[in-house]
Amino acid sequence: MDLWPLAAVMLCPNCRSRELFLIDDVDGDQITLRSLEEHTMQITYTGP
Ligand SMILES: [Zn+2]
Repeated sequence: MDLWPLAAVMLCPNCRSRELFLIDDVDGDQITLRSLEEHTMQITYTGP
C-alpha cells in the first residue's frame, strides 16, 4: 500500500458505493476515514 493521500475515492463498506474519503483520525497505524456522507471506515496502515 502506498502512502495514503489526504483524500481518496474508495468503495464504502456501509453503502457499497464509491465515496470520497478523507482522513479523520490517525492513531498509530489505525487510520479512520470519513466520507462526505458521514460514513466511516477504519483501515490499518501496514506500511509501503
Ligand atoms: Zn457510504
